[in-house]
Amino acid sequence: MGPGRTASRRAPGWRFIAFVLALVALAFVATRAGAADAQAPSPATTRTAIVRQLPQAISLARVLRDLRALERIADRNAGTRAAGTPGYAASVRYVRDQLRRAGYRPQLSPFPLVLYIERVERGRQIAPVQRDLPLEALQYSPSTPAGGLRARVVASGDGCSRDDFGAVRGLIALVERGDCFFAQKAANAQAAGAAGVLVYNTDEGIFDGTLGDPKASGIPIAAIARAAGRELAAASDPVVEMVLETDTRQSMSQNLIANAQPHPRKLLIVGAHLDSVTVGPGINDNGTGAATVLEIARALRKVAPGLSVRFAFWGAEELGLIGSRAYAQTISPSQVVGYLNFDVLGSPSRRYGVYGDTRFVTRWLGYFSRTGAAASAIDIEGRSDHAPFTLRGIPVAGLFAGDYSCYHRACDRVASVDQRTLEALAGAAAFGVASFAPLER
Ligand SMILES: [Zn+2]
Repeated sequence: MGPGRTASRRAPGWRFIAFVLALVALAFVATRAGAADAQAPSPATTRTAIVRQLPQAISLARVLRDLRALERIADRNAGTRAAGTPGYAASVRYVRDQLRRAGYRPQLSPFPLVLYIERVERGRQIAPVQRDLPLEALQYSPSTPAGGLRARVVASGDGCSRDDFGAVRGLIALVERGDCFFAQKAANAQAAGAAGVLVYNTDEGIFDGTLGDPKASGIPIAAIARAAGRELAAASDPVVEMVLETDTRQSMSQNLIANAQPHPRKLLIVGAHLDSVTVGPGINDNGTGAATVLEIARALRKVAPGLSVRFAFWGAEELGLIGSRAYAQTISPSQVVGYLNFDVLGSPSRRYGVYGDTRFVTRWLGYFSRTGAAASAIDIEGRSDHAPFTLRGIPVAGLFAGDYSCYHRACDRVASVDQRTLEALAGAAAFGVASFAPLER
């Protein structure tokens, strides 16, 4: 058995060595491939390569990590990231740090902001019956005198004409909503000598309204429900007490700006608003847009450093596009080839919305049809930060995932974001940047 055993050992021995060599070879190949993957992919320099690689370099995991960071910021700051609050300041710090880590030198771009805060809103009918009268101050309403305003209520039509107001001096004018701006109703009531104004709704319930301008009214003005308004209008000598404590003051906020090229000849501006509404953390609106722009900035550094893009994170969009309006005044339109806007990219939608300049929209619709996604051209009018750029004559375009149930509510959190939509739209956003940004080097 000796030789036999030797012989019988030798043959599997050679096979074993060959097997080990094959494993080593495989491991070598695998290690090389791993090393290549671990390194930054080599930057693309042609338009075709950039258009292919930039969308592929977008990571949903990183976008979600940014969204969770923004949600934590809101949770630690009274549930909001609204302009003028510590939650907005912390959001700016977070994005600025992320941009620095990616190799950018982000700049704060300050703009003036009127902050309006409501501290007390209380109403009560005193006569002929006593009951609570729920009311909401219109945005920029002055406060009532200390201790509140208690006065007879005088029905005054819709308040759009001076003739609507009879003897209201020192009293509360009651007007119906509609037909003219609230500021007009307030001005007419004030001119007639009224001490305050109640505007009742034409639909059920109370509404959210704004005077549009901090100086529009010198007297307090609040919204009440339709039913309450009709009852007051029909009552004889109704008396109401309204207590508003509001604060309107001049403040400052910031946009955050980062350039991919130090001295761009031409550039594409790519932006998203970073502020939320006051009642919620604003994760779909618009953490999704801001995190997508941030992730495109990271990816561009790695795979398309030759693209000339200015990344912008706007403040105070929710207060009326205030940050983007201020910024659009400072640019020279001839240098800007276009503005891409990303606002609400994570709604549970299966038909994605593309808006803006036909040239951009056509390219984007082509991209969606190639990726097998349902998309259509929509019109969101001037409802986001592209509007001030349109006014400067700059071609604009953007993506919108659609309406969703947590819009402008406290439940607008990471859990309510549709990840499939977000991944599709973040890729599409990157495609847009790769396709439309000037290639400088
Ligand atoms: Zn928004």
